[in-house]
Amino acid sequence: MKFDVAVLGAGPGGSTLAALLAWRGVSVALVDRDTFPRDKLCGEFLSYDALPLLDLLGIGDEIERRGAPAIRRCRIVSRRRTFEFELPHSARGVSRLLFDELLFRTAVARGAQPFDGWTAESIDHNALTIARAGESHTVTAGVIAGAWGRWGRFDTQLARLFARDRSHRSFGFKRHYRGASPGAEGAIELYSFDRGYLGVNDVEGGLTNICGLVHADRLAGHRGRWESFVTAIRSEEPPLDTMYSRYTPAQDDFLSSEPVIFRGRRAVERGVFMIGDASGIVDPLTGNGMAMAMQSALLAAPLILRALRPGSRTEIEAEYIAAHASMFHPRIRWSRAIATLLSRPAILDAALRAARPEGVGRMFVRRTRAELASVQRMTEAWRISSSV
Ligand SMILES: Cc1cc2nc3c(=O)[nH]c(=O)nc-3n(C[C@H](O)[C@H](O)[C@H](O)COP(=O)(O)OP(=O)(O)OC[C@H]3O[C@@H](n4cnc5c(N)ncnc54)[C@H](O)[C@@H]3O)c2cc1C
Repeated sequence: MKFDVAVLGAGPGGSTLAALLAWRGVSVALVDRDTFPRDKLCGEFLSYDALPLLDLLGIGDEIERRGAPAIRRCRIVSRRRTFEFELPHSARGVSRLLFDELLFRTAVARGAQPFDGWTAESIDHNALTIARAGESHTVTAGVIAGAWGRWGRFDTQLARLFARDRSHRSFGFKRHYRGASPGAEGAIELYSFDRGYLGVNDVEGGLTNICGLVHADRLAGHRGRWESFVTAIRSEEPPLDTMYSRYTPAQDDFLSSEPVIFRGRRAVERGVFMIGDASGIVDPLTGNGMAMAMQSALLAAPLILRALRPGSRTEIEAEYIAAHASMFHPRIRWSRAIATLLSRPAILDAALRAARPEGVGRMFVRRTRAELASVQRMTEAWRISSSV
């Protein structure tokens, strides 16, 4: 099977890239081991700087119609203080069940060929081996885009350095709840606990998502039982206990997944253009990972189009690496600094006492995402070049 581009992974990054390229008449294979809809570990806070991309792909109205609530405020709850500030623009609370399926269907509707339910097993130059239930195929493509998320078999296969790190691993946990009022209504709430934090926000369907991140060394003794871990943090931090007591679980169990390793990674690896988490990880507390994944697709798409033309790709790859670093590295750095503060409840308390939280909060929000206007300019440029 021959394609111009094979996109490996149909999360927000991969599906956005596939949709953009297929729109331009490029033949695209979109491969994912999952079938859609499917749930995924995530805070499900969709930052405002993703919204121009939703409009570009024509799904902004659909998300609104399906009831994804607007999130206008951020509330930080520490041991002794709570402070709240307006976000510069409204974000959305949207489940990954809904969001990823919409993006995947959009890519397919634009012309990408779906290989959902197919696991990619190996990459060899421009060939990808995919397998499903004893069947296997080779997909060849002019360009392979790696959108497989934060951690996977290809990170080891491509000998990526971060994958060897065993000492700086964190794990996420999430569960949907039904809440009593007052809930998080219209706000994202952030809570701190020792070596971790969690966020609370509403999503569509009258549900509230509670999703957290914790350093691996705090999980010893809980034997993978998230219920036991949550009981422990509730007993340590009274505000967390109060928050959890407002809700009852709407899902049978917690969802967790691969380790989160906050180490730098290259945006192009042996000719594979990396998109989304595979290209760099912003700390989850920012709620900017999905936006960044979609923006990296928008950044890479024109360069991938150029890479499909005959000639050397070295310059194009270097251009993507440089543009990726300039767009994303500052927000990744800021996100780590803020996460360090949020994972230390006593220090967070002291910081909230000393600082003027309103201004600082808004500054942190701005530093950890793109300016809305700059994403709008990028989407407009893509729209114009697609209509020529
Ligand atoms: C605890 C936590 C909370 C978070 N909260 C938020 C939040 O509130 N807001 C936000 O914007 N971001 C949040 N994020 C980050 C966000 O989840 C990611 O940034 C985002 O999912 C990245 O999108 P992606 O397309 O790069 O990868 P992913 O969404 O991870 O998609 C990768 C896809 O690749 C597929 N895949 C992987 N390997 C293979 C293979 N071998 N063969 C075939 N398919 C494969 C997977 O099935 C998956 O569908 C959070 C992350 C964590 C850990």
